[in-house]
Amino acid sequence: MQAPDTPCLICEKAIMYLWPDHVLEDGGVPSNLNNAVDIDIVGSYGSSFDLNVYHAIICDDCLDKAIQRRRVTFIKSYL
Ligand SMILES: [Zn+2]
Repeated sequence: MQAPDTPCLICEKAIMYLWPDHVLEDGGVPSNLNNAVDIDIVGSYGSSFDLNVYHAIICDDCLDKAIQRRRVTFIKSYL
C-alpha cells in the first residue's frame, strides 16, 4: 500500500512523505511527512460530528502561522 495523497488542510500544498512506501503495521497512515504534521480531529458531545475521528495534515508553514496568530494551543513537547 502506498501512502495517500497529502494536501495541507489549510493551503492545499502537496506534502511529500519522506518514505512513501512505508506502511504502519496496522495498515494506518504513516507519519513521516516532510515539513508537515499529522493531526487527529475528534468530535465531542455538542458537535454534529460527535463520536467521529478524522485525520488531516497541516504543513509547517501553516502551523507556524496558526501558532503566531494563537489559533492553536501548545500542549507539550516530547523532548
Ligand atoms: Zn499549508
